[in-house]
Amino acid sequence: MPGLAIVLLSLSACQSEEVLSRQSFVFGTLVEVKIRTSDRDQAIDAVDTLFSRFDQLHTDWHAWKLGDMTATSAKLSQDEWFTPAASITPVLEYSQQLYRDSRGLFNPAMGSLIALWGFHADTLPDKPPAETAIDSILRNLPGMDDIEFNNGRVRGHHPHIIIDAGGMAKGYAVDTGTELLRKHGINNALLNAGGDLCGIGNRGDRAWRVGIRHPNGQGVLASIDLSDGECVFTSGDYERGYDYENRHYHHIIDPRTGYPANGAVSVTVLHPDGARADAASTALLVAGVDGWQDIARSMKVDKVLLVDHQGRLHMTAGMQKRVVIRDNAAQEIIIAPQV
Ligand code: ADP
Ligand code: MG
Repeated sequence: MPGLAIVLLSLSACQSEEVLSRQSFVFGTLVEVKIRTSDRDQAIDAVDTLFSRFDQLHTDWHAWKLGDMTATSAKLSQDEWFTPAASITPVLEYSQQLYRDSRGLFNPAMGSLIALWGFHADTLPDKPPAETAIDSILRNLPGMDDIEFNNGRVRGHHPHIIIDAGGMAKGYAVDTGTELLRKHGINNALLNAGGDLCGIGNRGDRAWRVGIRHPNGQGVLASIDLSDGECVFTSGDYERGYDYENRHYHHIIDPRTGYPANGAVSVTVLHPDGARADAASTALLVAGVDGWQDIARSMKVDKVLLVDHQGRLHMTAGMQKRVVIRDNAAQEIIIAPQV
């Protein structure tokens, strides 16, 4: 009875399989990894390696606490060739590429401006900086093109470069993490860093399904079923910020004005490259409702969802095919088919 044998085999495969879930606080957020596996020991080993790698990357890439990145920033301001730590060069090179693709809206070389706003500190300030201080940084703002690369060595050409890779580091880390899991033989997993995530394989009975939070704080706006290797990253003006004299000041700064971006409430990007999705969500929030389509094209992301200040949803045709919007979650939906 070959039919029965197949049924029994698949049953036993199901019984020995489980979804293992582990959490750790890293990159300033709760990171959760779910692994569907029939080999518990292999999965636990992979997760342990993953979390210790994440702890290391957090230290290496931190823009403000002493480590490889702060050492790199200090040397970049000295206009001399040097070899950064091995963890740094690929991040710098890719950041420069993403900076160019975003036409400068994603600018991790402007750490001085982020610090002026106080978003480098654990405790947020209670009021914005003086306009004169913003203007003086803006007049001579460093960009990633102020960094030159040559055979693993780098040189900065601006005295005020401070690298804050926070707008793409989580994406780069999650990419590193999924690669590490695959090397450990994990073929089905979801790696979630505070709502920004990448999936491998599926959950077994169906795809990994992820929710996109409503920027108004009230539940879920939409959901997406991930294909193998896809990532979803969101940037929002509600993530980190403060109110002062009836205005909201948040942590994503428009390098053109020196002030927090005000052209959109949130942007979600679906893409196989986590670092690109992360940088693009930041850049498109800066580009805002009027400029996001151009920047999406130049950043080579075609699955984008933007929420504007009127509660309208703007999305690409590519995103429309993939996203399920919750009933009553949107005032209006506007499709941008040309991206
Ligand atoms: P989150 O880290 O909250 O998920 P983002 O990925 O959008 O959000 O990254 C925001 C962080 O990126 C800020 O905290 C700041 O360190 C940095 N940043 C702010 N504005 C920019 C910008 N225009 N380009 C690059 N990095 C930025
Ligand atoms: Mg980002």
